[in-house]
Amino acid sequence: MTTQEMNAAFEQAYGRKAEKMFFSPGRVNLIGEHTDYNGGCVFPCALSFGAWLLMSKNEDGVLRFKSLNMEQTYSIPISEIKPQADRAWCNYALGCIDIIARRHPEAKLESGYDLLYYGNVPAGAGLSSSAAMEVVTARAFTEEMMKGLVDEWMSGPESEKKYRTELALIGQACEHEYAGVMCGVMDQFASAQGKKDHAIYLNCDTLEFEHVPVKLEGIKVVISNTHSPHHLDSGAYNDRVRQCHTAVEQISKVKPIKFLAELTEEDWAQVESAITDPIAKKRARHVVGEVARTAAAVEALKKGEIAYFGELMTASHVSLRDDYEVTGPELDALAEAAWQVEGVLGSRMTGGGFGGCTVSLVKEEAIEHFKAFVGAEYEKKTGLKADFYVAEIGDGVTRLA
Ligand code: ADP
Ligand code: MG
Repeated sequence: MTTQEMNAAFEQAYGRKAEKMFFSPGRVNLIGEHTDYNGGCVFPCALSFGAWLLMSKNEDGVLRFKSLNMEQTYSIPISEIKPQADRAWCNYALGCIDIIARRHPEAKLESGYDLLYYGNVPAGAGLSSSAAMEVVTARAFTEEMMKGLVDEWMSGPESEKKYRTELALIGQACEHEYAGVMCGVMDQFASAQGKKDHAIYLNCDTLEFEHVPVKLEGIKVVISNTHSPHHLDSGAYNDRVRQCHTAVEQISKVKPIKFLAELTEEDWAQVESAITDPIAKKRARHVVGEVARTAAAVEALKKGEIAYFGELMTASHVSLRDDYEVTGPELDALAEAAWQVEGVLGSRMTGGGFGGCTVSLVKEEAIEHFKAFVGAEYEKKTGLKADFYVAEIGDGVTRLA
């Protein structure tokens, strides 16, 4: 859908023109999985697909939510902003407006708004359509509610960086409080801080980050969607968090640590025997290895050693499959088929796990064969059809009009 078509859809929905338009991207994590809540780094990049928001003020004191992706519409008086029914899609937007007001006492919502959303991130595929929606809303409404401040924040690179981090934190708080998902900050951070043809080496604990150029000459980032109904549910997620916590406690008897990510692989050899719980030990082994792999992958990319970067991606999948146990048959089928294709440098699951997508580095000339072979193998093993997207690495949230 073009932005012209979105503008036409806005006029059709609300009987007048949109005053402003914003865009925020989805993301894919290249490496560094389940490291975020362990004090470690992640390495995501923003995609060229994401969520658009078109908006105009209204005189009715009501927030009207429409989405070109959803049937349900909502109309909420500005004096009654609170979480809506479980699973109401407007929670991802409404929550941001509420959180802005709570984090910034000077922020004021002075009128109602007519809002139209459109997204082209495949739904529920783990590419963070929710973060795109949150960050686009946070960008738009910080500007509406604190106009002067946002102009100031956008006036220099350092203050803009801080502003973008704030947008990510607003989005994350919305996801916690309005969607009930206790996610880390990676998704919203990538959506807010993305940079064309760069990935973001982010420490999710300190929020320190670095944009690293992704120069892949002749190689593409290919995303494969399992279309699997399985998801990393909050139960399985919370189990992993707890098991890591157990490992930290047991390790701390011999070497006090706050996070597993503090351990180098040499440390690991010294402390591993202190973990008596065999499941916690496997989980911790993944985290320590993944933190080291992520650092090595960033170095490899900086040196142009793309083949080694690919090997680290594949090793990451193996660790997530065998030690962290969050892959499941669909993601394994996709990754294992990809590894057999000549011209694939590496392939791994991305996102929380079980369902969602894999990310692969594929030589351009091998992409057609990759799609055909991996698609056929996947269907043979699972009975499901995969989808493939050649990713473009795009910029973070932006005002378009
Ligand atoms: P993802 O991995 O894509 O972030 P989530 O389950 O976290 O999956 O978020 C998907 C939810 O976000 C949808 O069910 C819907 O409530 C909301 N959402 C995302 N994009 C849109 C959109 N364009 N319009 C309306 N709601 C959206
Ligand atoms: Mg999400």
